[in-house]
Amino acid sequence: MIKKKGMIQLVTGLIENTRLGYCQCHEHLFISSRESFKLNPSLRMENLSSTVKELERYAAAGGRSVVDAQPGGCGRMADKLLEASVKSGVQVVASTGFHKLCYYPANHFIHTADPSRLAEFFAGEISEGMDLEETGGPGNRQAVKAGVIKTALDKEGVSGRYEILFEAALEASAKTGTPIMCHVEKGIDFSSVPGYFARRTDPEKMIFCHLDKAVQDMKLHIKAAEMGFYIEYDTIARPRYHSDEREAEIISEMSEAGFADRILLGLDTNRERLKSYGGKTGLDYILKDFTGKMESAGITRGTIRKFTVDNPAKALSPG
Ligand SMILES: [Zn+2]
Repeated sequence: MIKKKGMIQLVTGLIENTRLGYCQCHEHLFISSRESFKLNPSLRMENLSSTVKELERYAAAGGRSVVDAQPGGCGRMADKLLEASVKSGVQVVASTGFHKLCYYPANHFIHTADPSRLAEFFAGEISEGMDLEETGGPGNRQAVKAGVIKTALDKEGVSGRYEILFEAALEASAKTGTPIMCHVEKGIDFSSVPGYFARRTDPEKMIFCHLDKAVQDMKLHIKAAEMGFYIEYDTIARPRYHSDEREAEIISEMSEAGFADRILLGLDTNRERLKSYGGKTGLDYILKDFTGKMESAGITRGTIRKFTVDNPAKALSPG
């Protein structure tokens, strides 16, 4: 059970947060062909040697650690995460928790289990090991442990089944001292979300992802950052949503407003964005290309180091 502030749980074991190094906080290294693949064919990466190749390129560019944001039940491949980390030397933090419900088979326990059973399951994946079969059933655990609790805010916000799932994630986080990482769906009404979670947990324990894509009103980014939540900007190299120049501007505005210590970066990779699977972007894109674009937008190297080294170390080890 990790509860100690300053420690981060990798798939290979616990480390002091000073050993995390450069870290992108929301990526996908593997996704097996499950429900998500039926909805979006780019949500499938199952090849160990391709993922290892991608991680090796990332390491060669200066990458040291990655958070894999795929929870169990929707194609996490926990055993492969361990193998890829050992083979490539890149440190990997794996996720327990839950994703959008559309990514699960209809008979999965995530749809029906009560909050205490869910909380126990999430905490168990952190303290004992992840469920290899991804069914939530007993007896399938392996020694590889999760280090972050992934959650998802779909368009309906914290209501219905999602309210129960969040209750469980918050309980598991309180019990284990593990941070919560939250997918924020584009188009959601985000205005009451930071307040809702600030009443239930220490904001330092929570990361809101995709705000650069999901929430257009920058005042809401500021509101969340002011309360102490971490914000992850990961709509990088995705011209369908906005240019990299606009992305660098968003990051620069938030830094100038005094929130450089709240920002994390990632690429939210899938098959179309990983070079070793035939995609164009590459896991090393931030290191090789986007860093220069941030510098052109006036962001200093010291500030970029905060986004990619100092802030991840703190966000992933709240205790
Ligand atoms: Zn993601």
